[in-house]
Amino acid sequence: MDRRDFHKQTLILGIGALAGCAKGNEVTVRKQPGNFYEEPPKNLPIRQFDVVVAGAGTAGVVAALAAARNGARTMLIERKGYTGGTVTEGGTALHSFYNLWQAFDVEKRQVVRGIPQEIIDRLMKIGGCTGHAEMAKGFDFDSVCTAIDTELYKLTTMQMLDEAGVFIAVNTLLTGAIMDGSRVRGVIADSRSGREAIYAKAFVDCTAYGDLAAFAGAQYKVPNDYACCNSVGMGNVDIDKYHKFMKANGPIREMAMGIRSGEPGKIVRVKGPLGAEFAAEARKIGMASVTTTVHDNYLMFIKCNYEVPGSVVNRDDMAKAELEVRKRMARAVELFRKYVPGCEKAFMARTSPSLCIRRGRLITCDYDITHEDVIECRHFDDDVMAYGFHDMAPRYQVKDGGTYGIPYKALRVAGIDNLLVSGMMITSDHRAHMSTRNTISCMGQGQATGTAAALCAAKNCGTRDLAYGTLRDALKNGGVYFES
Ligand SMILES: Cc1cc2nc3c(=O)[nH]c(=O)nc-3n(C[C@H](O)[C@H](O)[C@H](O)COP(=O)(O)OP(=O)(O)OC[C@H]3O[C@@H](n4cnc5c(N)ncnc54)[C@H](O)[C@@H]3O)c2cc1C
Repeated sequence: MDRRDFHKQTLILGIGALAGCAKGNEVTVRKQPGNFYEEPPKNLPIRQFDVVVAGAGTAGVVAALAAARNGARTMLIERKGYTGGTVTEGGTALHSFYNLWQAFDVEKRQVVRGIPQEIIDRLMKIGGCTGHAEMAKGFDFDSVCTAIDTELYKLTTMQMLDEAGVFIAVNTLLTGAIMDGSRVRGVIADSRSGREAIYAKAFVDCTAYGDLAAFAGAQYKVPNDYACCNSVGMGNVDIDKYHKFMKANGPIREMAMGIRSGEPGKIVRVKGPLGAEFAAEARKIGMASVTTTVHDNYLMFIKCNYEVPGSVVNRDDMAKAELEVRKRMARAVELFRKYVPGCEKAFMARTSPSLCIRRGRLITCDYDITHEDVIECRHFDDDVMAYGFHDMAPRYQVKDGGTYGIPYKALRVAGIDNLLVSGMMITSDHRAHMSTRNTISCMGQGQATGTAAALCAAKNCGTRDLAYGTLRDALKNGGVYFES
C-alpha cells in the first residue's frame, strides 16, 4: 500500500482503516457493514514537547531515556499501565550483550553497552537478574543468557524514566498522527483524561506494530511470517527436581548457570527432553521447551505459539487467537503437572495481558538490512550500534563470532522528515529479522533513535539533516560501543 492509498482510505474510514486485514504482503481494508457515523470535529487540548516516543516497550523505554538525557523534553506514550513491553511478556531472556565468542573461540567482547547495560546494573542491585550467565551447553546458539525478573524490570525502567524527567503517559493509546506535508506535526493520544494533541519536533515509533508510522502515512507491509505467542510464568515448581528429571531423559541441549534466588552457579536456562508423551502433547499446542528463571520455584516463560489465521493487525482475528492461546496455556500447565516431577502443584502465576507478536507492520525505511549484511559482519559509515546474535544459530551465524552494524538509515522512515523507528518493525528479510528483532538489538536501536530525535529537536532539523559525527559522539557519550 502506498501513502496516497492509505490517506484515501483514512479519509473514507477514519482511523478505523488501521483495522485492515493483511494477507501476505497485501493490506486490504475490510469495509464495515451498515451505515457510517460521521464523527463531529472537536477541539483538542495541545501539549508541546521536543520528542514524543510512542510505545514504552523494549526499544521505547531506552529511546525515551536517551532522548531525555540528551536534553529533550520527552513524552512517552504507552497503552498499558507499565513499561517494558515484550521483554517482560514474551522473551525468555535478553539476547545478547556479547559476541558469540565461545562458538568461534575468539576474544570475548561486550558489544552492547550504554543504557541496556545500565538497566541490567540496576536490576542486579535488587536481585532482578541472573547476570550475564554464560552458556555451558548450546553455546553455538548464544554465549550468554541474561534472564530478568519481569516485574522488577517494569518497576526499574519506570523509575529510571521518572529520574530522567520523562513525561510518562501510561494507560494512553496513540490513535492518530497530525501531518504537515511530509513532517509529523503531532500525535493524537486517548486516555481517560480525554483526547489530546501532542506536538513535538521529532518522533520515534517504538510501538512494535508501527502504529505511528502507519498513521503518518509511511509505507508498510504486514508479512505475517511468525507465530504469535502468549507466555505463562509457572509458580510452585521444584526446579532442581525438574532439572534432574530432564537430565535423566536424555542429553541437555542448552544450559546456562547464573544467579538464582541470590545464589550464583545455579541453572538459569535449560532446554532438554521431558519425555516422549510430554513432547507429543506439547507439539499439539505449539509449546517450546526452553525455560529460564531468576527464582528457585518459578519457571519464567512457558511459551505457546499459534499461527494466527488472518492478520495480527486485525482485531477480530486476534480476538479468536487470544482465546485459542489461553486454552493452550491452561493445557500447558496441565501437561507439566501430569508428566514432569517437580511440577505436580504448579500453577499459572503470570500470563501476558495480550498476545505477543514477533512482527506486526514492517515499516519501509531508508535502508533495509539484508541477511548478508548480518552474517557477513558488514558495518556502515553511519553505524549506531554493533550486534552479534542470531536467533537461527547455528544454522545462520554472524561470521567468526564478529558483529554487524545497524546503520542510522535503517531507522529513518522513508518519505517522512522527522520520524524514526526502532524495534521489531525494521528489516524485511525474515532471516535478518531473526537477528535485528531480538531484545538487545531493539534496546540498542532505541538508544540510537532517542538520541538522534533529541539532537534533531535541539538543532531544529530533519532526521536526514543530522550530521552523523554529532550523533556518533552523543552515542559514545551515552556509553554505546562501536567496533571501530
Ligand atoms: C514470544 C516471544 C518470544 C521471544 N523470545 C525472545 C528471547 O528469548 N530473546 C530475545 O532477545 N528476543 C525474544 N523475542 C523478541 C523480542 O522480545 C522482541 O522482538 C522485542 O522485545 C520487541 O521490542 P519492541 O520494542 O519492538 O516492541 P515491544 O517491546 O512489544 O514494545 C511495544 C510497546 O508499544 C506499546 N504500544 C503498541 N501500540 C501502541 C499504541 N498505539 N499506543 C501506545 N502504546 C502502544 C505496547 O504496549 C508495547 O509496550 C521474543 C518475542 C516474542 C513475541
